[in-house]
Amino acid sequence: MIQILHILLLNLLLVNSFATMARGHQKIQSQAKAAEKQAKMKKQQGHSANDQKKAAQKALVYVCVLCKSQMPDPKTYKQHFENKHPKNDMPEELKDL
Ligand SMILES: [Zn+2]
Repeated sequence: MIQILHILLLNLLLVNSFATMARGHQKIQSQAKAAEKQAKMKKQQGHSANDQKKAAQKALVYVCVLCKSQMPDPKTYKQHFENKHPKNDMPEELKDL
């Protein structure tokens, strides 16, 4: 009778330690997943920040040769030139627009 009780107790202990191990493992896994998620998010944020910078740079590629104003497209540049610098010669690349 005492022996059976002893085995039962041992079983209980074993089950308990397995459960603890499983929980510990799960915790590690979820921590790893969270870290991975964070790293991904950071990467994405970095990407989008870079993309925005690139887009902003791309959006302002035309720089007025006279006043260094930045324009998003040649038409705006041409209008700018006609309005701001009517006495100056228009750059060749704007004449055909
Ligand atoms: Zn200008």
